[in-house]
Amino acid sequence: MRANPWIFNLPEYVPGKTIEEVKKKYNLKTVYKLASNENIWGPAPQVLKCIEKTVNEINYYPDSYCRDLKEKLSLKYNVSPDNIIVGNGTDEIIGFIADCFICIGQNAVVFDPTFSTYEKSVLKCGGKVIKVPLENLRQNVVSMVDAIDTKTKIIFLTNPHNPTGTNITEDEFKSLVKDVSGDILIVVDEAYYEYMPPEDRVDTLNYVRKHDNLIILRTFSKIYGLAGLRIGYGISSSKVISALNRVRLPFNVNSMAQKAALVALENDSYVEEIRKKVIAEKEKFYKVLKNCGIEFIESYANFVCIKVGDKTKKIVEELLKKGFIVRPGENLGLPGYIRVTISLPEINDMFLEAFTRIYRNVVEHAYIKDV
Ligand SMILES: *Cc1c(COP(=O)(O)O)cnc(C)c1O
Repeated sequence: MRANPWIFNLPEYVPGKTIEEVKKKYNLKTVYKLASNENIWGPAPQVLKCIEKTVNEINYYPDSYCRDLKEKLSLKYNVSPDNIIVGNGTDEIIGFIADCFICIGQNAVVFDPTFSTYEKSVLKCGGKVIKVPLENLRQNVVSMVDAIDTKTKIIFLTNPHNPTGTNITEDEFKSLVKDVSGDILIVVDEAYYEYMPPEDRVDTLNYVRKHDNLIILRTFSKIYGLAGLRIGYGISSSKVISALNRVRLPFNVNSMAQKAALVALENDSYVEEIRKKVIAEKEKFYKVLKNCGIEFIESYANFVCIKVGDKTKKIVEELLKKGFIVRPGENLGLPGYIRVTISLPEINDMFLEAFTRIYRNVVEHAYIKDV
């Protein structure tokens, strides 16, 4: 008995620490998880109410086709339900994409660093990833096009990017679509799309209407506050969607998630409120960090990467002792940085206070005295 040899090339995911783990280890009452870019405000109150109601239906299988949700999305985006796939998180759809388009020996092009699910999904199918390093911490789409070879089947873009929060502009995107052969699937992962100011968003939907080799991915895990329910969707040509639907298992999206997503889409004003709050809080982060002379990457998403240099490990540990879980850049391919999720105003204040003190002690004085 032997597993397929390429399975052993799969990297293991290093998750953020859980709140319970940290509470126990450091003997803390309150712990703030700022490591996985969740919406700390949570979903709209109407969504929570709807979830309570659906508890009564969990003895039934969910709608395999996600009819109501696809209907709603098709009205929202003016596309046919045949252009939409719903997944158990966009993670699952990324898996479907690799299943459908990657054979042994073929490859996908990704930026480096990027969201780890792309690589994992491609390796699982016996494929390879070609990694294009970020340039000055940004995605250079010209370098990505240059990296494509005869075995390339997919390119993965993330806009805004994870872990940096940087964007791809409309001009950059336009030139990329023009330069990439129609045989290659262009995946645009827009997990943080709703956090962008509307004027900086690329109208990718418009490109999906004209190019059948393009898929956009969006999720209810981020601004909609439903990460724990696992639901996301993809919009593409019916040709791509019909392939993806063939590898999808019948009941991939649970009924609570389907209902909650439906109600979430009816509460645009809540999403807008969260977006504005996050922008205001991000500005606060920038101001405090600038005042302290600490470098960071300006971000279009609900997280900020802060440069801490070679003392990352110590800083992450000291923050844990104070009850803040952040992501060490090492785990994300961005050594020398920590990635911090923007949280509620009072939590951000406490975080910035603790972080700047720790930074001063660890980096500037290079020793710890009573942090
Ligand atoms: C969080 C995130 C997702 C969302 O994944 P889900 O499976 O929908 O929770 C997708 N892509 C990126 C880049 C992310 O950061």
